[in-house]
Amino acid sequence: MALFGSIEGGGTKFVCAVGSVPDDLRAVVTIPTTTPEETIGRVISFLSQHGPLDAIGMAMFGPLDLNPSSTTYGSVRATPKPGWTGAAVVAPLRRAFGVPIGFDTDVNGAALGEGRWGAGRGLETFLYITVGTGIGGGGLVNGDPMHGLVHPEVGHLRVPRHPEDPFPGCCPFHGDCLEGLAAGPALAERWGRPAEDLGTDTEHAVEFEAYVLGHAMANLVLTVSPERIILGGGVMGIPGLLDATRRQMLESLGGYVDVPALGDGARSFLVAPELGDRSGIAGGLVLAERAVSG
Ligand code: ZN
Repeated sequence: MALFGSIEGGGTKFVCAVGSVPDDLRAVVTIPTTTPEETIGRVISFLSQHGPLDAIGMAMFGPLDLNPSSTTYGSVRATPKPGWTGAAVVAPLRRAFGVPIGFDTDVNGAALGEGRWGAGRGLETFLYITVGTGIGGGGLVNGDPMHGLVHPEVGHLRVPRHPEDPFPGCCPFHGDCLEGLAAGPALAERWGRPAEDLGTDTEHAVEFEAYVLGHAMANLVLTVSPERIILGGGVMGIPGLLDATRRQMLESLGGYVDVPALGDGARSFLVAPELGDRSGIAGGLVLAERAVSG
């Protein structure tokens, strides 16, 4: 069985693993995200201790340059994360290992992982959305990760906020876009306490959050026509939020898309991830495998 390196690159930590399947990893390490040079250097050091590897897959926080014909392919595009704008992350791996490298966004990676071993099994077209410190979305269309012009930036969709919610949002680009209203930092600013402490005792918190997320899910149903939406991330741990978001999604759609998945089957249409915090590492393994098979 082929041996792969898997990298899940996040804004606060990089998780790296060596193995073939997520249930049987040979080694795993968590590395704090510091400078690109130091962080990638430690990734290389870890992977080289557990090789030889047949391929590497990297699911990375973005925005990223994913265009294979670009001179800056495999680098991070303009990001508020200090020191990371323009950082080449694929090139140093290629120099160190000389093996095929699969590279995609963290959310496309997670979608690939869920598609192989989790909540997207057997589906060709589905979305993976995460609501946490930021909001990101990716997915597969006809079996391949969505790229296009750059890659989807679902977190910055414009959605209506609840008519009774005066919070203006906190996205530096848009104010009350989806992320500006519904990500963890927005909730903390809006309610004066961390998102994980919000629940049934905070009047309107779940209602307002589900309103925004539900409209976003409806818009995604109407544009991408996914067979399923996997909705994860720390904020979705708020009790009752997933169910309330599903109800709001259906209300926003108004019965227009008349299929069982958006009727009696809605509980299996908008779902939580099955792999939990392992979907990114699982996705790195799939990216590595896809890099080998071309
Ligand atoms: Zn925005």
